[in-house]
Amino acid sequence: MKLRAPFLIAAGLSSLISIATPVRAAPESRSQITILYDAFGTDPSMSKDWGFSALVEIAGKRILFDTGNDADIFAANVKAKGVDLKTLDFVVLSHRHSDHMAGLNYVLSVNPTVKIYAPKEGFGIYGSSLPSSFYRKEETLPPEMRYYGGAPPQVMKFGAAWQGANFELIDKTTEIAPGMTLIALVSDTPGTKELKELSLAINTTEGMVLVVGCSHPGIERIVEAAAAINPKIHLIAGGFHLVAASDDVIAKAVTALKDTFKVEKVAPGHCTGEPTFASLKKTFGDRYLYAGLGTTLPLGANTGSDMRRGEGPALQQDDLTTYRRLARREDPFGILQARRLRTKASKL
Ligand SMILES: [Zn+2]
Ligand SMILES: [Zn+2]
Repeated sequence: MKLRAPFLIAAGLSSLISIATPVRAAPESRSQITILYDAFGTDPSMSKDWGFSALVEIAGKRILFDTGNDADIFAANVKAKGVDLKTLDFVVLSHRHSDHMAGLNYVLSVNPTVKIYAPKEGFGIYGSSLPSSFYRKEETLPPEMRYYGGAPPQVMKFGAAWQGANFELIDKTTEIAPGMTLIALVSDTPGTKELKELSLAINTTEGMVLVVGCSHPGIERIVEAAAAINPKIHLIAGGFHLVAASDDVIAKAVTALKDTFKVEKVAPGHCTGEPTFASLKKTFGDRYLYAGLGTTLPLGANTGSDMRRGEGPALQQDDLTTYRRLARREDPFGILQARRLRTKASKL
């Protein structure tokens, strides 16, 4: 290492003497979460719609988590916040529901090669593959009656709805960058059975920062998986999927977050649901961070919301009206509708 000593001396000198060339500062590393898509919020420059998307800037990475429900609205909201999608490190698509992925076309129009993490599902829209050994062979058939003439490829690939997009499919919980883990769980709820969902867990000096899309596998199961990495859960942001849950189910989930997992802060949005917003607000007080559309949640020493921290209701009246109108969409199987009709009929 002949070069080492002179180099160290030179480096030492340059730190002692103020030299003409300015020292290049390390790139500013902001740590924050910006809500780009949701059905409630107070930013007049953005359009509210049912769905979820957030820009997560943390540990020097810029991550787009989900892409909303409508590519045009998503594009307008991204522009309103001045977010540059060309410089993303990667995209995470939490699950295959359209209110989380419809904006992907816009992302790809701006950044066609960006890495996209998505759940691996058999014959899923993000593409998939299977070893050809999965199907039974019948050697006695003539070649023209056999798949691939009797000589299948080793791996059979199935197309994605976005051909050519740079998908990396995640099958099981995986650390994708130092301290950054995609938690992969499968929903067991009727209506979304077998739906796989990814949640983003980032291990920070303050504890886990957990970003969830819709929490179809259950918010408690997701938090449990994050706690297995680091039991200190600093913040959970995103949709808790309790939008149609009964008071009992909500109370159980909120208690588990507070008492079992000792979650420090919550920033609920999307499909968390109005009664759950109210219950979390009551339980977490000023540790409830308002996370409506357009909100930026700074992370780090002063993790919190840039607006209405610890004051006021979970949602203001006009906010609530829009959220209610848009939340009706979270009923793809007509469960709420059927329940409403039943209640109506029983009153007649
Ligand atoms: Zn969903
Ligand atoms: Zn959703």
